[in-house]
Amino acid sequence: MSNATQLIHSIPVDPQTGAISVPIYQTSTFVQEAPGVNKGYDYARSNNPTRATLEQIIAQLEKGHTGVAFGSGLAAIDAVLKLLQAGDEIIAVDDIYGGAFRLFTHIYEKFGIKVTYVDTTKAENVFDAVTPNTRLIWLETPTNPTLKISDIAAIAKIAKASRCLLCVDNTFASPALQQPLTLGADIVIHSATKYLGGHSDLIAGLVVTREKELGDKIKFIQNASGAILAPFDSWLVIRGIETLHLRVKQHSANALAVAKYLQQHPLVDSVYYPGLETHHNHEIAKQQSKGGFGGVVSFNLKNDTEEAAISFVTQTQYFKLAESLGGVKSLLCHPANMTHKSIPAEKRRSSGVSDSLIRLSVGLEEAEDLLADLEQAFEKVASKQLKATKTV
Ligand SMILES: *Cc1c(COP(=O)(O)O)cnc(C)c1O
Repeated sequence: MSNATQLIHSIPVDPQTGAISVPIYQTSTFVQEAPGVNKGYDYARSNNPTRATLEQIIAQLEKGHTGVAFGSGLAAIDAVLKLLQAGDEIIAVDDIYGGAFRLFTHIYEKFGIKVTYVDTTKAENVFDAVTPNTRLIWLETPTNPTLKISDIAAIAKIAKASRCLLCVDNTFASPALQQPLTLGADIVIHSATKYLGGHSDLIAGLVVTREKELGDKIKFIQNASGAILAPFDSWLVIRGIETLHLRVKQHSANALAVAKYLQQHPLVDSVYYPGLETHHNHEIAKQQSKGGFGGVVSFNLKNDTEEAAISFVTQTQYFKLAESLGGVKSLLCHPANMTHKSIPAEKRRSSGVSDSLIRLSVGLEEAEDLLADLEQAFEKVASKQLKATKTV
């Protein structure tokens, strides 16, 4: 059975009524026959049938044992960090999502958890950073926003040998392209706000564990801390997942067309996209990401100024200026002033996020319309610069 067929049929028909769409159980509690005797549900923070269906679907999609659905991607990350205790250490990818950096630094460091950031694109850097206190290795691949690729299987081996957990934030690839648990990771997290939801209409997070034992711990943490996903939002994510494979295929095809266009453009300096043969880890990306390289492309303008980048991002018509990614409509943003503002400038620049970097979330419009939109923005920026030099 192909992945798409498996995906579509992993969404169950309601056994009670035959409803082909998963019912939304908008309830806080469940009536019991006798104390502790119930139909598998007692209180909706602990469990809810709509959320439980989403959790089963994502576990299947990621080829894991247990799925757990949270109120946001950051709540999912937060639950994984609560597996740790004071004195434990994390090794994290240096080009990490800004919100994850903020959570690690401003919340967890004060509870005695130390985080070391390394360039994980070379697995040996991870090996060198392991200490006797390392408990968790945190990867994103591709990273946000410079699309760095790390070798999940190689780093999983290091994690195993060092007896620590490997968690992969799989938001950018989505399970339609990449399944880190099959490459040896212990935990996958998602901001389902992005490709899984797919329509820029919800905030949600997911955790999937390879083993039952770890899944039980995450469920315990969720019930104890309370950051659950609501029934309606669970239903929206399920609805998004129904078309995940189709959407991600088209996002990837459009993004490759955009990356190739940018690569030959005279006003563009560097293009970051794992699907380009010039990408530093293109071969690894090809091995671990099947059927495409995702919908996010970043690039620098040739004169490399912040003003030119800001001017560019305000000139496009189809690419809307907004944070987030993975939706039907194309978006673009200026990470240094938007998504990555919470990372100190020096650290941000050293991880490759220059002040002129522009990130595109390539949507599902016709590729040629998107290229035309970018072209007219380049023309406007170029004529602005020409005027500026004339007045000098
Ligand atoms: C958006 C994002 C998150 C955070 O998810 P929210 O749903 O916004 O809380 C985490 N990781 C990555 C890679 C993201 O893009």
